[in-house]
Amino acid sequence: MQVIEADVIIVGAGGAGLRTAIAVAEADPKLSIALLSKVYPMRSHTCAAEGGAAGVIKSNDNLEYHFHDTVSGGDWLTDQDAVDLFVNEIPKELLRMEHWGCPWSRETSGNVAVRPFGGMKIMRTWFAADKTGFHMLHTLFQTSIKYPSVKRFDEYYTVDLLTDDGACYGCTAIEMRTGQMRQFRGKAIVICSGGAGKIFPFTTNGAVKTGDGMAMAYRAGVPLKDMEFVQYHPTGLPGSGILLTEACRGEGGYLLNKDGYRYLQDYGLGPETPTPVLKAMELGPRDQLSQAFWHEQKKGRTIPTKWGDVVHLDLRHLGEKKIDERLPLIRELSAKYVDSDPVTTLVPVRPVVHYMMGGIHTDIHAATPLNGLYAAGECACVSINGANRLGSNSLGELLVFGARAGRGAAEYAKKGLTAPSERLDALAADSEARVKAWFQRTQATDRVPDLKKRLTTAMEDGCGIYRDEATIKAACDIIVDVRERFKNVALEDKSSVYNTDLYQTLEMDAMIEVAQTVAVSALERRESRGAHQRLDHVKRDDEAFLKHSMAHYNPNGEPRIDYLDVVITKSKPAERVYGARAGGQSAA
Ligand SMILES: Cc1cc2nc3c(=O)[nH]c(=O)nc-3n(C[C@H](O)[C@H](O)[C@H](O)COP(=O)(O)OP(=O)(O)OC[C@H]3O[C@@H](n4cnc5c(N)ncnc54)[C@H](O)[C@@H]3O)c2cc1C
Repeated sequence: MQVIEADVIIVGAGGAGLRTAIAVAEADPKLSIALLSKVYPMRSHTCAAEGGAAGVIKSNDNLEYHFHDTVSGGDWLTDQDAVDLFVNEIPKELLRMEHWGCPWSRETSGNVAVRPFGGMKIMRTWFAADKTGFHMLHTLFQTSIKYPSVKRFDEYYTVDLLTDDGACYGCTAIEMRTGQMRQFRGKAIVICSGGAGKIFPFTTNGAVKTGDGMAMAYRAGVPLKDMEFVQYHPTGLPGSGILLTEACRGEGGYLLNKDGYRYLQDYGLGPETPTPVLKAMELGPRDQLSQAFWHEQKKGRTIPTKWGDVVHLDLRHLGEKKIDERLPLIRELSAKYVDSDPVTTLVPVRPVVHYMMGGIHTDIHAATPLNGLYAAGECACVSINGANRLGSNSLGELLVFGARAGRGAAEYAKKGLTAPSERLDALAADSEARVKAWFQRTQATDRVPDLKKRLTTAMEDGCGIYRDEATIKAACDIIVDVRERFKNVALEDKSSVYNTDLYQTLEMDAMIEVAQTVAVSALERRESRGAHQRLDHVKRDDEAFLKHSMAHYNPNGEPRIDYLDVVITKSKPAERVYGARAGGQSAA
């Protein structure tokens, strides 16, 4: 097997991976970098981000406000040292993006414009129309190109980490063009492989978000943290799951039930409060808005369609000029996918799986417990999102913690630690044998697409917006069954060139691991907090569960769950309050 060596290996070339690569190159131009991605970097999911990135810049705002919005938004499950550092570093990162060429939308004065976002009680979300992720990813991509030390391996599918004696020394990856497996040896490895929304059937997430990196780290012994917290975004298009950004509501859109009534006022989110402190209502946090939809549905106040029940997003009062300037993509998507022009028509929307709050356990330096292994971006849990991420904090997170991961990995790589090459060869051979087994098996009793359907449906039924013991247990049982049956799948396509059958099988392998950590962590958390709402344990229980859940890999069965204390520095757990009840103050 061909061996490729680099000082720092980065798995994933989305926003987090590219920011990491730039940070390594800036820290020390002599360090060689291998940047692996299963898709061309600009096809990473970051490209699809629409609404914006939050960072304090205006005079009516301050870092404490951003801190408190984030901590209360996360229902106090955030680590406050991480949030502090995040809110401090993000404005500098966003300015750096400006200097690298990111075309932030401006006010007529020429200053950077900000827009309101859910759960942020002051306007602080920077944006580039409603194509923020596209522009940010482009900016990072073109900036990365100017560093000769960054060597890209586009369309390389990473399979396994190479770990020995508590440290990570590389990975195996398949060159998709030829089907050949390569051994990548590095002194530090950073996982930036994105989220895992595809473990659910209805999601905003791109097809590539299958949790591969989470599964790799997990199997290598790194715990996955807070996996039960899965974010539903309240406004996805029925059928496709395509996102209509929260900026629709930030710009003033309403959510209406079947009677044309702004129902959110019935769920503790109203009445509106005047600017500059923002109204709640449609700008409440995503978990509470998605939960309100569920209640409206139970009351029979949603609108049935062939794609399931919906409510309406009303943008008509914003007018054509504002919609074209601020939300051009939303107009295009609504017209193309649900045949509704928001200038004149109500747009059907429903909650859709959007984001994983949980992920690979890291400290505030983006380091995992495995020496030499780092993680940043959506695959990681540092944790600044707690039980519910606020919209527009994720693009910021990948910049701040991508940069930190890069600096940390660069420092670590200089130690030059490595494992005996025979040991790494043996590990790589095991990884290759695992893949070859799928080619060799002939008697398939199950097919990956059928198993995927069974798995994702179980997740929706058992781990949706509301859960209880019986539904979660049913999901856990189905996952065990799917895992068993997956052992019997065989590849129908035995070719080596762009074998999508193989990559979907590898993705399914990762999805089973990730789904199981979500379901088992959800079962064990017998309380309701943020995005994890239990019908059989309706109250938040700080005494028993103000803790991160940590799912540990168990080769013989379901994951083992234990708990880690949350870091609380200055904000004591309290009730989450939005709308007029917030008393006109942002800081808690
Ligand atoms: C539609 C949509 C809109 C959003 N809008 C916003 C927003 O407005 N504001 C905000 O803050 N957040 C938003 N988010 C969330 C945010 O965009 C993501 O959390 C963030 O971009 C993730 O970045 P990332 O770099 O961690 O992962 P990604 O951008 O998903 O990149 C992952 C990378 O890992 C690579 N990879 C994965 N597996 C493998 C493997 N096995 N081998 C090799 N490479 C691999 C992929 O090829 C890719 O390059 C949105 C998300 C969606 C889905």
